[in-house]
Amino acid sequence: MAMNIFEKMESGVRSYCRSLPIVLSRGRGYHVFDEQGNSYIDFFSAAGSLNYGHNPPEAVAAVSDYLASDGIVTTLDMYSVAKREFLAAFELSILKPRGLDYVVQFTGPTGANAVEAALKVARLKTGRSNVVAFTNGYHGVSLGALAATGNNSKRQGAGQALNNVTRMPFEGYVDGIDSLDLLERMLDDPSSGLDHPAAIIFETVQAEGGINVASMDWLRRLERIARAHDILLIADEIQTGCGRTGTFFSFEPSGITPDIVTVSKSIGGMGMPMALALIARHVDVWSAGQHNGTFRGNNLAFVAARAMIDKYWRDSRFADGLKLKIDLLDDLLVTVAAKHWKPGCQLRGRGMMRGLKFQDPDFATRVQAAALSHGLLIETCGPKDEVVKLLPPLIIDDAGIARGVALLDKAIATATTAAADLASV
Ligand code: PLP
Repeated sequence: MAMNIFEKMESGVRSYCRSLPIVLSRGRGYHVFDEQGNSYIDFFSAAGSLNYGHNPPEAVAAVSDYLASDGIVTTLDMYSVAKREFLAAFELSILKPRGLDYVVQFTGPTGANAVEAALKVARLKTGRSNVVAFTNGYHGVSLGALAATGNNSKRQGAGQALNNVTRMPFEGYVDGIDSLDLLERMLDDPSSGLDHPAAIIFETVQAEGGINVASMDWLRRLERIARAHDILLIADEIQTGCGRTGTFFSFEPSGITPDIVTVSKSIGGMGMPMALALIARHVDVWSAGQHNGTFRGNNLAFVAARAMIDKYWRDSRFADGLKLKIDLLDDLLVTVAAKHWKPGCQLRGRGMMRGLKFQDPDFATRVQAAALSHGLLIETCGPKDEVVKLLPPLIIDDAGIARGVALLDKAIATATTAAADLASV
């Protein structure tokens, strides 16, 4: 009964609700609750928007106090006290300690809009239109971002040609082919057919594309090639950023310095919409208002974001603790993957961004359904949805990690039994 209004009123485009058909009502930390009061461990985190968990108390208090004192809510790109405090915290605790000198562009509040801004400013700066993007990359579904996205079904949704992107193989895409050797060769060959690109856009871990991890060496070589050919480097940190892989930006361990970084999802502290394009000063060629958007001044997001930066990123304690949690998660998942060798379970990923790939493309969806019935929220990803994606909130404790992985283990066993039953019919 309660579901009917959704099916009656919402467009056929709705998707997560199809594989996770529960009606959510509350969330706290790493738990969510449906309207019947059933609790679920959240290994989904709203696709990486809730790295600090549901309703983190400091963010809730800061936003509640702000609203109670008539704090201004929406300000386009006018100056506000909340924005000043966010920028100061972001500079002090995120950019400065990492030796990064970017200007901050507040775009419309979706990741796709930050990607649009990044692509546009790179094209403006270089006067070139072509951009290199990678197989299985995902950068959003507005037309510019969609042109850089690999997923065919999403691309078909455009209903028109998607232009000005050259697709290159991501690391490990084809066994035995070095994708960067290929890129370099094509850039060096005036007859390769590759128009000199304005930029190369990449994810360090392709999230929607199936948790495909680029090695640090590959990232460093990518940067060297971009520099040698005067091509701008755009790191899409929308899903990998804000600590998801263990450091604030996922590219940090490689030592590279992208020219543009897109950030969204968890930057809003508690799921408040906000998106940023961080732009190297020499690339910031925008004229006033050239990229625009009404909701670039979400002050509730500024307040929540600042509260979380102040709590977690002022010193290294949170990141140090995160390393231990990542080790625990890794140990437990290695055991689970080894135990479930029958459906061809393969562990992949980095930090708190992990995936379990299965041979039968339908198997991951069955695991997701079984997990839901056992009280665990997980997503699937990959070209055929063949990968179970695991994104626990970073604030999860050891008991939560252990419980979540135990439920996952049980869900894989349930899906294996169901598959065997089907096969014997
Ligand atoms: N880029 C990456 C790497 C993403 O994972 C996503 C969304 O999942 C986007 C861009 C698009 O963000 P949004 O869905 O907020 O437009």
